[in-house]
Amino acid sequence: MVVRITYHCNQEILEWQWASDSEIMPYPYFTSCYLIDGLLIDSGAPGGENDFREFVKSLNHDQMIEKCFITHAHEDHAGGAHMLNKEFGIPIYTSNKTIDLLKKGNTYPEYRQIAWGSKLLPVNAELIDKPIITKSKKYKFEILPMLGHAPELVALLEIKEQWAFVADAVQPKYKMIFGKNSDIQEDISQIYQSLSDLYDITEGMDHLIIFSAGNGVMQGRDILIEKMEEIEKLHIKVHNYNKQFQEEGISGKKLIRKILKKLFGRESIISQLTQGDLSRENLIISLLKWKKNKCL
Ligand SMILES: [Zn+2]
Repeated sequence: MVVRITYHCNQEILEWQWASDSEIMPYPYFTSCYLIDGLLIDSGAPGGENDFREFVKSLNHDQMIEKCFITHAHEDHAGGAHMLNKEFGIPIYTSNKTIDLLKKGNTYPEYRQIAWGSKLLPVNAELIDKPIITKSKKYKFEILPMLGHAPELVALLEIKEQWAFVADAVQPKYKMIFGKNSDIQEDISQIYQSLSDLYDITEGMDHLIIFSAGNGVMQGRDILIEKMEEIEKLHIKVHNYNKQFQEEGISGKKLIRKILKKLFGRESIISQLTQGDLSRENLIISLLKWKKNKCL
């Protein structure tokens, strides 16, 4: 297993990253959780439980976890919550849409088991719907819904410090998404709207830092504009190709395949490995469903 510990912002924020070292994986996929003044944001993956336990035991008195907040119910974020609660008695908090999902636990396809461990164990989390105050009352986190990657996903925003903990709501490149074959159903129009909401709510924050899960730390609000422009361009292209091919009498699956060829050349190898759960085709279908937009 691969574990990395990184400190940010004068050691105020500790990032714990974990990835499986399975030889089947083309490269390590990391997930992150962040510890800030006793507040742990997310809890790693089920496969990282032993490493996570060692990490929790290694914390000194000042770093001790007082509570854990889960951003959404995916296994690479909620994977350590059961152990944290059962073995360390740490209370788990989350937003209203995530509570029932955590209570049920989850099983998922083999390719996700290889990346994140065999299954998500259930945990009873408590609802929190007001700002979260940290252990020494130094920080206050507002809860901001950021739908699109998951319907229940929320980000945490520390306004005074200009920190946004966004989990999977901001991705490095929008080349493929999860679609209807998966229990992770992403919606590109909602992803766009969430980026726009975060941009609006952080107006005037000239030193915004965006902490993602596994995709690093991003500086500045401009990155949100870049992400929105990236999606807008894809949206325009997909609708233009759609119009062109429809006029040529092409429809259905053939139409999607033609757009895919124009846009990306071919489908990603990941699509095959995930039996179509995660694919470029899903992204095109989602972009086509998204009709009304100021950029069209
Ligand atoms: Zn996720």
